[in-house]
Parts: sequence; structure tokens; C-alpha cells
Amino acid sequence: MHIYVHIPFCARKCPYCGFYSVEGVSNTSPYLAALRKEIIFSGIVPSASYEGEVSTVYFGGGTPSYADAQGICATLTEILEKFGISDGEFTIEVNPNSFTADKGRMYREAGFNRISIGVQSLHDDVLKTLGRLHSSSEALAAIEAAKEAGFTNISCDLILGVPGETLEGLYEDADKLINAGAKHISMYSLMIEEGTPFEDLYGGKLDQFVDEDLERRMYHGLRDHLDSKGLHPYEISNCAYKGFESRHNIAYWKGREYYAFGAGAHGYLDSVRFMHEENIEKYLLDPIHVEVEETLSERDKVKEKIMLALRTTEGVNKTLTQGFEELIDKNIKAGYLEDTGNGYRLSRKGLDFANLVFMDFI
Ligand code: SF4
Repeated sequence: MHIYVHIPFCARKCPYCGFYSVEGVSNTSPYLAALRKEIIFSGIVPSASYEGEVSTVYFGGGTPSYADAQGICATLTEILEKFGISDGEFTIEVNPNSFTADKGRMYREAGFNRISIGVQSLHDDVLKTLGRLHSSSEALAAIEAAKEAGFTNISCDLILGVPGETLEGLYEDADKLINAGAKHISMYSLMIEEGTPFEDLYGGKLDQFVDEDLERRMYHGLRDHLDSKGLHPYEISNCAYKGFESRHNIAYWKGREYYAFGAGAHGYLDSVRFMHEENIEKYLLDPIHVEVEETLSERDKVKEKIMLALRTTEGVNKTLTQGFEELIDKNIKAGYLEDTGNGYRLSRKGLDFANLVFMDFI
């Protein structure tokens, strides 16, 4: 059982962000009440269960910590009761400027046992360039608050390739996060998303502000640096100590089915990809309504499983790639894939050209 819950609120919209969220909403309770209504009345039942797999619930956003904490906790309680889940990995995303130890304690009491903190950088100039509301000291304080509240499974995000960011600065950030107690670090390259203020500012010319070569050195350098500290890279953008890998994301990369609750949330059940419209007003009127994005054929499903598995360091098992030998060979010859014996995975060079490889399986 894997469940995603979307909380589409943020204190202020960051100029680079393409996620669906609305800024400055003062009363988030009606939305959280609609979420609980969706959870109670949704009649969908997953078509498969995966033996031995841990149940996961992930509250993402937006900024879940911006929303009313009581309502968030009541929503998790509703999910656990409705789906009869007693144990699993229950994650909440928080931002340093809207998270406190008190909120953390409420989250822990409700059952959240993993926290993902939107640190992004521990350099104030980089945070300013990103238009974030928090400072580096507030980010470190958020980690302390999470520990104080009883979280031990702590993940932090870092963004690389930001104008003005340095390789040494990134390593420093990583070390500080590890020393502060992060067990998992997600590292994302700054992307210019359509329709964002960053598109006007940097669209098509980010490389004039951040040398492409430096951006790649940051990616590989940070990945290796984290590896050397014991946080092994288990996916393109994710490194963790053993046992602290995100079970929820692993379920995605295995092509598992998952529920999705909330405006703008995307789900996958019974071969169907579905979504809730990115519109809070409409969601409040009819939280159960979903739109079918596509129904996957058996071949589509295999292609997608290959693509998703190739994101992981483990790679894809050869049992799955039968019938796709030509595409695999092409990518091995290009140096993008390597043979692991029982499967294939992205090579070091392939990590830089992952999107080209994935395109072959879309
Ligand atoms: S806080 Fe996160 S979700 Fe909200 S606007 Fe910024 S990057 Fe986007």
C-alpha cells in the first residue's frame, strides 16, 4: 500500500518552482477537511499487493508544514484507519520557515516517522538567489527541532547548479547536514521550469550563469562525497545510509501502484494513471473526482518499469528487458548503460545522459 497526499500550499512561491502550490492561503482547514472526505469516500481498491513490502504514506507539496498541523495529523490518522495500516514509513515534507519542534511532536504522535526538510543550501547567498524564505541557520534549527521532536529518519534536500554556488560550498553543506543528523540527502539540479520567474530570468541561458561543466562536477562530486561519508547513492538523485533509503520512492521506481489524494496529486492504480486537477476550488467542491491520464498496456508497463528501474543504482533485471535487446545494446554501445551480470544500469557517463536513455523507453 503506497499513498501520496498533496498539500498545495506554500508561504510564498519560490521563483524556480514548477510544482502545484498556492501561496499565502491563511485557512487551510477546508482543504484538509476535503482531503479526509476523499479518503473516506474514495472507493478505489488497488489491484495488487506486494508481499513483504512496507506500506508507505507520503505527505508532499507544496509545504505540508505550512498547513494546519492538527488537520495534517487527522488526515494521516484517517488514512491509517481506513486502509488498516499499522506500521510502515510515513513521511512528511517540511520547510524550515514553517516547521517547529511543537509541530514535529504532533506529527510524531500522529505516526509520521520520516521527515524531509527543504534545506536546499546552507549558504545564505544561494538561498537568496533561490528566493527561499529561510536562512541557513533556520535550516539547521529545523533539523534540531526534528530531532527534538523524536525524528531519527531525517532527509534533507540540496539544490546544485545554482548561480553563485561553489563545489566546495556544496561539500560543506553536505558535511554540515550529516553532522546535524541527516540520514538521507536528495540532490537536485536546478531546472528552469516553464512559466516560472526563473524562466524569464535564466530561460535558455542558465549555462551563462552556471558553467555546464561545473554543474556536472557538482553532481558527480557531491554524489561521490556523500558515498565516501557512508550515504550510498541508491538512485540518480538520492543518497542514504543503509536502511534509510526512501521506501516510498523505491515503490515508485519499482512501478508499484499508489493512491493519490489532494488537488494536483497524480496516482497509479489498476494500470491507470490518474490525477486530480490542479485547482483547489474545484477540489473543495468535488474531492473524489479524478481524471484518467492514460491506461497503460502490458508493454507500456514493462517499458515504464525498465525506465524507472534504470533510475536506481541496482538497475533493471534482465528478466524485464527481454524483447528490448536492441535498445539495450544501443545504449551499451553509446556507453550509457553497463551490464551488471543479472541486469543493466546507468554507467557513470549514462548518469549525464539519463534522459536520452529514458526517451528510448517512453
Ligand atoms: S516551498 Fe517548495 S513547493 Fe513551495 S514554492 Fe518553494 S520549492 Fe515550490
